[in-house]
Amino acid sequence: MSELRDAYPLFVGGEWRSGEDGASAVSIDPSTGEEVARVTDGTGDDVAAAVDAAAAAAPGWAAVPWAERAAALTTLAARIEEDAESFAGLDVVDAGMPIRGSRRDVANACTYLRYFAGLASELKGQSIDVPGTSLDLTLREPFGVVGRIVPFNHPLQFAAAAIAAPLAAGNTVVLKPAEQTPISALHLAELAAEVLPAGAVNVVSGGATAGSALVRHPLVRRIGFTGSVRTGSAVLCEAADLIKVVSLELGGKNPLIVLPDVDPEQAAELATIGMNLQRTAGQSCGSTSRVYLHDEVHDQVLERIVERFEQLELGDPRKETTDVGPLAYAAHAERVRAAIVAAGEEGAELRTGGPEAPEGTRGGCFVQPTVIAGVEDSMEVARQEIFGPVVSILRWSDEADVLARANALELGLTANVATNDLSAALRFARGLEAGYVWVNGRGQRPFGAPFGGWKLSGLGEENSLGELLSYTRTKNVNLSGLA
Ligand code: NAD
Repeated sequence: MSELRDAYPLFVGGEWRSGEDGASAVSIDPSTGEEVARVTDGTGDDVAAAVDAAAAAAPGWAAVPWAERAAALTTLAARIEEDAESFAGLDVVDAGMPIRGSRRDVANACTYLRYFAGLASELKGQSIDVPGTSLDLTLREPFGVVGRIVPFNHPLQFAAAAIAAPLAAGNTVVLKPAEQTPISALHLAELAAEVLPAGAVNVVSGGATAGSALVRHPLVRRIGFTGSVRTGSAVLCEAADLIKVVSLELGGKNPLIVLPDVDPEQAAELATIGMNLQRTAGQSCGSTSRVYLHDEVHDQVLERIVERFEQLELGDPRKETTDVGPLAYAAHAERVRAAIVAAGEEGAELRTGGPEAPEGTRGGCFVQPTVIAGVEDSMEVARQEIFGPVVSILRWSDEADVLARANALELGLTANVATNDLSAALRFARGLEAGYVWVNGRGQRPFGAPFGGWKLSGLGEENSLGELLSYTRTKNVNLSGLA
């Protein structure tokens, strides 16, 4: 059973292993501020030990036929499901995710493993037509050791997604979860060791020191990073020395553009669901946190968004009825509160929520679902990713103008347009500079639909066949007879 423990070593080479210098940190329950467990603050030496274990396991795992690798990942998904409620409980305590949302993350974790297991038969090359007695073909080969680094907002789901494609492609993995929420990834590694060879999945907890050591390690030729633009940029620079292959899933400040033909109730629903408040308290890269309401419907839609935000139950993530839990850690909650205060100082209007801790939640990292209206594109609240339960409301009246405003930021992760007008939907879908565009989207991201940011929001794609193939490198083999 994946029950919480008091202390967590690292998981390396198929077993629990103490950190090289005994450095430890404390994981905090963000709904109470109390200590959950002691965790290891991984060092460069710890990362080196994990990479050694992964490198030792790599040739054997690459030699396992793809169908057997796929079967192992499917078994791992089934084992997680058997223990689903315990797994869901881990992220409730360690990340503050409401229990209903956490169950969905567990289900998604299993689907990621099954999805990439199902694609494993696509790991094949091509033959190139050559006249005469030659033959030219390509092979897809794994990199060996893959380094994956993930953020704090979907701890188990991201850990499972991070190992799924690299393992299916025949690589072994060293995973570094976020320092704020490492526990479910460590439990996942322990379970993985029951169905995969020792060293196939290694987890080193810790922060920037461990992350940077993983990126710089010479045996790690492929890095998959999910996190902020700032860290992603640092990762890309550090990986440049050894010309490593890097994919980056980074931040967003995503627009939702509401056209005047939309029913205000439906528009408010899209705006509320689009913030991903109910799973992550708005700590979601895909949240549509810049909402552009057409002049003709602005007031009606805004009023209903405020109503919907006020209906959400904020509180203990263990309670079945809770909609919105705390943010994942205290310093982040402080940053979000400061952004709300700064928006007021810039002249925006606080319509509901605000920076004060809600009644009865002292000691926790709670921030009220907050609607800020009268926002201008030049304000920081419209320019910076807040990564919390804060939505900015802006006005528009001219289509070309709003499209230019939506595209003006250097970020380009997701975008949503709400309309019943098919022609307008297509114009916006074509015109929006983002890697993932919804028309009347409710945050859905079907498996197989490629996800990846444009501009500063990322490099590469995930959640697709493209992701699986990106964990292989192409080798061309040209064969000729001597006769
Ligand atoms: P972050 O960049 O601070 O940290 C992400 C991870 O990087 C953590 O594991 C952290 O320990 C590690 N790290 C820190 N410094 C490092 C370094 N120098 N070298 C290597 N690793 C290092 O991000 P965060 O605050 O944890 O997460 C929030 C950000 O993640 C937001 O910007 C959000 O939009 C983004 N995000 C993007 C996606 C996506 O799919 N595009 C998904 C989730 C979150």
